[in-house]
Amino acid sequence: MLMSAVAQVRFALSVGLGLRFAPWSLDFLLDAVRATHREFGETDADGLELLHGPELDEETRRELQLRRFRKQAARAARDTVYYESLFERLEIDPGRLVHDDLLRLPLTRKDALRDAPHAFVRRNGNPTFRTTTTGTTGKQTSISFSAAEMRTFIALSAISFLAAGYIDPSDIVLLSTSSRAALGNSCFAGACARIGALVSIGGLIEPAHTLALLTEQHHISGKKARVSVLSTYPSYLGQLVEEGLRRGYRPADFGLERIIIGGELVSEGLKVRSQRLFGSVHFDEAYAMTETWPVSGQRCAEGHLHFEPGQGLVEVVDPETATPVLPGEAGTIVVTPFPPYRDTTILLRYDTEDTARPIAGPLSCSLRTMPATTNTLGKLRLSVRHDRGWTYPRDVLEVLESLEEVPLPARFGFWTVPDGVAVEIVTRANGMAFRGRVQRQLEERGVPVREIRLLEHAGRLLHPMPLRCDLRESSFALPTTAVPAVDSGLLRAGS
Ligand SMILES: [Zn+2]
Repeated sequence: MLMSAVAQVRFALSVGLGLRFAPWSLDFLLDAVRATHREFGETDADGLELLHGPELDEETRRELQLRRFRKQAARAARDTVYYESLFERLEIDPGRLVHDDLLRLPLTRKDALRDAPHAFVRRNGNPTFRTTTTGTTGKQTSISFSAAEMRTFIALSAISFLAAGYIDPSDIVLLSTSSRAALGNSCFAGACARIGALVSIGGLIEPAHTLALLTEQHHISGKKARVSVLSTYPSYLGQLVEEGLRRGYRPADFGLERIIIGGELVSEGLKVRSQRLFGSVHFDEAYAMTETWPVSGQRCAEGHLHFEPGQGLVEVVDPETATPVLPGEAGTIVVTPFPPYRDTTILLRYDTEDTARPIAGPLSCSLRTMPATTNTLGKLRLSVRHDRGWTYPRDVLEVLESLEEVPLPARFGFWTVPDGVAVEIVTRANGMAFRGRVQRQLEERGVPVREIRLLEHAGRLLHPMPLRCDLRESSFALPTTAVPAVDSGLLRAGS
C-alpha cells in the first residue's frame, strides 16, 4: 500500500533522525515534505518539532556529540595546518578525546581565523565557494565551503522552512540584507527556490525604495499579491518602520505576514513598534553566523535559543578561563560545527564572542528536546565591565527601543565610569521627565547608570554601537562635480 505523504514525511524524518540527516537523505526528505505540502496545503503542525527529534537523555546526547567532535578533531589534526600543529603541541590524540579533554582544548579565536583562513581548510577539501563575513568592524573573516556543503545547507533550510510552515510556494520573499552576505543570501534564496516561492534580493537600499517593493502589487498566478515574507536585520527594519510611518503608510498598504530577522540583537520594543506599520506579523528569530554555519539557534515562544545537538557542540564558557559557566551565568558562545555538515573549513571550539546564559533543564517549551541558552546579550567586545559586574548591549537596547521617543533603530553607546556606566542616546525628547524615565528603566534592568547624555544626532555619539543598516548600498548615481576630481598632477606626484 502507498504511504500517505504525511506518513512518508514521518518515515523520512525517523530515518533522517537515526542518521541525524546524512546529506544524501536530505533530497529524499525534502521531496517528502513538499509532497505533504501539496497533498494537505500545509505541513503537519508538528513538522518542526518532529524535525528536532526525540528527546535525547543527557548521556545519549553527550555520547553523540563526543563521537562527532572526535571525528571532526581527527580530521582537523590530520588535514589542516592550524590544528595539526595544535594537537602536536598539546600531545593529545584527537581520536581518543574524552569529555574532559574537550575542556582542555584552547578556544579558536576570531583573529587566528582572520589572519590565516587557509590554515583551517582541509588539504583534501574541495572548496568552491568562499564567503566573507560582513564584519561591521575591522578586517573581514573568510570561510570556504564545498559545493556539496552548499547543496546540503540549502536542502536543510528548505526542509526547515517548509516543515515549519514559514515559507510555501505561494509566498513572495524579499531579502533586505547586505548583498555581500553571500552565504546567508545564497542559502536562503536557494531554499526559497527549492520550495517554489518567488524570491528577490533587494539589498540594503534606501528604506523608501524597499517600502515601494513591499507595497508593490504582483499579478503572478499562484502567488500572493504582495511581498509576504521579509528577511532582514533588526536595525534596517527599524529604519523601514521610521520611514514608513513618516511617509504615512498603514498596515493595509502591505501584505507582509512574516519577518525573518537576525544578524544582530532583536528587541521586544522593535517587534511591538513594527506592528504599527505592518500590522500583525510573525517574527522568526534565529541566531547564526558565517563561521559556524549551519549551526543555528532558534527561538521558541518562551524566548529561549535552542541548538540542534547533531549539528554542532554549543558551549557557553567563561571568556577568561574558557571553562563552562553555570546555568544563569553569562559567558561567550563557543561552537564546534560537526560532520557531516561541515567538512571543508574546520573549526573546533570557535569563540563567537557572542554572550548568553545557559538554561538548566528540564524545559517545557515546544523545542524542549534541544539544549538552550537565553537570547544573546550582545558581543563581548561591545559589553562593558564595571565595578558592579557587566552591562551587555541587550540590557540597554531593550529599554531604549521600547521608548517611542527613541527613533528606530536605537542609536546609543555606553561605557564604564566610576561605580557604573554612562549611556548616550539619540532621542526626539529632552527634559528631566524623559531622562528620569530612561534612568529608572535602565536601573530596573540592572544597569547601574551614572550619567545620561541625550543627543539629537548620531554623529555626536562618542561610542556608537555598530549597526548593520549602515552597510548601506547606494544606487546608481552619475559622477558630479561634488565628487573631488582626481588631480593628475597629484597622481603623478604620488605614483
Ligand atoms: Zn524553549
